Amino acid sequence: MKVFDLRCGHGHGFEGWFASEEDFQSQLARGLLSCPLCGDATVEKLPSAPRLNLGAGSQPEASAPQEAMPTPEQLWLRAVRHVLEHTEDVGERFAEEARRIHYGEVPSRGIRGQTTQEDAQALREEGIEVLTLPLPVGMKGPLQ
Ligand SMILES: [Zn+2]
Repeated sequence: MKVFDLRCGHGHGFEGWFASEEDFQSQLARGLLSCPLCGDATVEKLPSAPRLNLGAGSQPEASAPQEAMPTPEQLWLRAVRHVLEHTEDVGERFAEEARRIHYGEVPSRGIRGQTTQEDAQALREEGIEVLTLPLPVGMKGPLQ
């Protein structure tokens, strides 16, 4: 499946989905393509640029600036930010809180904090899941 950015003779930009480049050329030659906005059958293909199809949130207008592909580092930072936003910082009490949650003494929730390698290992041996996430220097809370 290929997605082409198309434009009609009146300058309307829209997307077309085709099995292949040949499929597009074939439909164009047979006059099967027309602008969904005005019905103009004068359709041309814009130079394609590799990009993600973001579905409902994407803007089909060609004038919108195209978002660059996130780098692995950006994806990782997003994951870190997600963790920071969805966990409670219990600081040095991490091991203690993790146990209280595990044994049902307090409501279950996501927590984060500092713990030693030994404490983390002890928690794992008790069957408590501990995820070690090295945070970048200076990142102590949500960036927003
Ligand atoms: Zn049009």
